Amino acid sequence: MKELSEKEIKALTLDLEAQKKEFELLLSLTENSAQPVKLKDNAGRLSRMDEMHNQSILLANRNLTKSRLKQTLSALEKIQLGTYGDCIICTEVIVFKRLKAYPETTMCLKCKSKREA
Ligand SMILES: [Zn+2]
Repeated sequence: MKELSEKEIKALTLDLEAQKKEFELLLSLTENSAQPVKLKDNAGRLSRMDEMHNQSILLANRNLTKSRLKQTLSALEKIQLGTYGDCIICTEVIVFKRLKAYPETTMCLKCKSKREA
């Protein structure tokens, strides 16, 4: 398969850097809310459950963001090393369209769907 062009890599680098900033911002904004729920004395049972439910969603989102940030950082590292865009399973070049949608991805669509099956 065709290697990524310099122009494509440049576009994806910008995407990754924007994404990195976005994830870091998101994590810093939600940092305080990720602390254990402090229950107000006057809070009713229902609102406590709401609060705990909201927090579990928030924590799940934070974990997802954290792992995407980690992948984003390692993708940026790979760009430096010149190994970016290669599928970690079959080593084929991942198509640009897929990278444009998920610039931090490490697997081509074929390997990814095989793994998820
Ligand atoms: Zn593959």
